[in-house]
Amino acid sequence: MRVFDAARLVDGRRDEALDDARLVVDDDGTVAAAGPREGVDAPPEADRVEFPESTVVPGFVDAHVHLQGARSMDVADWTTTPDSLAAARATADLRSLARAGFTSVRDLGSTVGPGLREAVREGEVTGPRVFTSGRAISQTGGHGDVHGLPHEWVADGTPLSTLADGTDECRREARKRVRDGVDCLKIMTTGGVLSERDAPDSRQFTDDEIRAMTREADRAGVQTAAHAQGTAGIEAALRNGVSTVEHGFYLDGDCIDLLKECGGTFVPTLSIMYRITERGDEYGVPEWGLEKAREAREAHVEAVERAYEANAAVAAGTDFMGPELVPHGENALEMELLVEEIGFSEMDALQAGTRVAARTLPRNDVGTLTEGARADFAVLGGDPLADISAVRRVEETYVDGQRMDA
Ligand SMILES: [Zn+2]
Repeated sequence: MRVFDAARLVDGRRDEALDDARLVVDDDGTVAAAGPREGVDAPPEADRVEFPESTVVPGFVDAHVHLQGARSMDVADWTTTPDSLAAARATADLRSLARAGFTSVRDLGSTVGPGLREAVREGEVTGPRVFTSGRAISQTGGHGDVHGLPHEWVADGTPLSTLADGTDECRREARKRVRDGVDCLKIMTTGGVLSERDAPDSRQFTDDEIRAMTREADRAGVQTAAHAQGTAGIEAALRNGVSTVEHGFYLDGDCIDLLKECGGTFVPTLSIMYRITERGDEYGVPEWGLEKAREAREAHVEAVERAYEANAAVAAGTDFMGPELVPHGENALEMELLVEEIGFSEMDALQAGTRVAARTLPRNDVGTLTEGARADFAVLGGDPLADISAVRRVEETYVDGQRMDA
């Protein structure tokens, strides 16, 4: 048993931090107790660790990353990088995530995600728990296609996505992912910013195609995430069984009602939009991508404000993938942007990056530090409730009560 005493603790569930707090972790890596120090006994035989100036928070969860070790913003480059190199780079990305306080990530489009997940489980690679969709599923000419390359080069898919058209192919692709043991499906129901010849508000996949994929996900007991930016594509996704809306630039009031009705989660990925519009031109984002991002930016911020006001579940996810513009290790930016751009309270932003983000994962014992949960936590220098930038001052990261050596 281990006992951690901290200046303050946020458990991810309560709406207030606990001062002079104590966290007790069982030998099996679960939380035995968390509360004010005077109310929680420390067993005399337990190891003691003290963080007299620091805040303990649940380990951060990034609900939308790509673990394909990208090192540029060039989609053709992502397509031609060998998987062996991608995997090696992605292991470095996992270490960066661990150092930044992340204890779980949801990978929504990669070839190497499933292998990384196993290597982390085995303890061969240091990093957060990996949950992965494997490669996303896109229609031909859709967001997951690479429009500037000859079709025959990408007909069998790219490292981030495969192509499917018609309900039979969609069902088969979904079944292939289930066969690979994925934690969720990822489908593209609209165009996007970094796909050359479509637009964020163009709809992709028919209702029948979407339903063919979500049915397979349901039968396998996993959720479906939809890359969905325009209103029509968001609505189609939600009406046809999708659980998480990624990006949601034009999420309107009706979409929010639908999202709440189906118990879904909105993952806005403000971070990548912020980085692309602020500095994308310096890092090789093509002009057509910059233009689309700039055009959507204001509506996107308003959509997140609308969702926050309506009390919808908004989860922190960055869409970071590894290049200098959107590097792993700076993923806590999303919580800062929720406060600074949208007006989230600091506590709501912390919950978006922990408990709410964990709603997108296929397990219910991560994202909080309540009794019985996994003892995944970050130790922050400073008080994130007084100044949200403390989420960047990570001193140590623990998974299952053990310090990650990253
Ligand atoms: Zn993405």
